[in-house]
Amino acid sequence: MANLIDGRAIAEKVYVDLRREIAELKSNGITPGLAVVLVGDNPASRAYIRSKDKMSRELGLHSVKLELPASTTQSELLARVEELNRDPAIHGILVQSPPPKQIDETAIVQALDPRKDVDGFHPANVAKLVSAAADGFVPCTPLGIQRLLVESKIGISGAHVVILGRSMIVGKPLALLLMQKNKNADATVTVAHSRSRNLEEITRSADILIAAIGRANFVKSGHVRDGAVIVDVGINRIEDATNERGYRLVGDVAFDEVAKKAAAITPVPGGVGPMTIAMLMSNTVKACRQLL
Ligand code: NDP
Repeated sequence: MANLIDGRAIAEKVYVDLRREIAELKSNGITPGLAVVLVGDNPASRAYIRSKDKMSRELGLHSVKLELPASTTQSELLARVEELNRDPAIHGILVQSPPPKQIDETAIVQALDPRKDVDGFHPANVAKLVSAAADGFVPCTPLGIQRLLVESKIGISGAHVVILGRSMIVGKPLALLLMQKNKNADATVTVAHSRSRNLEEITRSADILIAAIGRANFVKSGHVRDGAVIVDVGINRIEDATNERGYRLVGDVAFDEVAKKAAAITPVPGGVGPMTIAMLMSNTVKACRQLL
């Protein structure tokens, strides 16, 4: 049976270091500030921004939560982003995805001050990830996955990492991050997606298999070789009448059968999710230091 990679415990370790850094900044009269912006009332998005705001407050950051109506126009949102860009108390800005249809998300991301783009989606930060520039911002989920593996002492260097999914939020930046030339990366990376042929053959060749496709329980034991490490990024709602909410969250990996074959595996919830928030906090503190 696989070892469980406990994302909550590893995120707690990150917070111990962050609390120390934040205390040091505060003793110099500086409080890192994070603004999270939600347009509309998507329930999952609302839950995400609430937990981000809650964690900012717990750490003693200056936290601003802007909840704008679903009818907000592109120019109204751009004006709010501009205000936050100019606000010296704000060091990190996040506009929760997906926005309503009338909003052009690419234009919003490009309007962010890249020095405050703690999600790492601005083209300037994407370029910095490609060129491994240390002052750039790496998207929080890939950064959290790397940290999970490093803290769990899972060797990435030289390993064959197979990533299922090629989104701009997870798959692509994760591939760039893990192929970088440094001791916490140096992986041989394969990225597979919905058009990949012979998927099981590809995934079975992975030392580390990372699933980020958004398909409940998609990865079965047949996709996995004995002794592989499995990272499950997926967050999928499936109906569950026994649950008071009427649904429960599952990952992209059929946990029970895959855990029998794997050496280590992340659970859903409690795996990658807590690390994503921890890396957002970490990026905010980094942004604050770099803006001083
Ligand atoms: P997207 O929908 O943007 O991308 C999904 C990717 O998976 C696409 O590249 C798609 O291929 C690929 N894919 C879909 N179906 C298959 C299939 N049957 N076989 C192979 N590849 C497939 O999703 P995201 O990257 O935004 O998110 C992925 C999952 O991770 C979701 O469940 C999301 O909720 C979760 N997530 C979790 C986070 C966390 O903090 N834990 C953070 C961000 C996301 P193609 O490109 O060909 O369409």
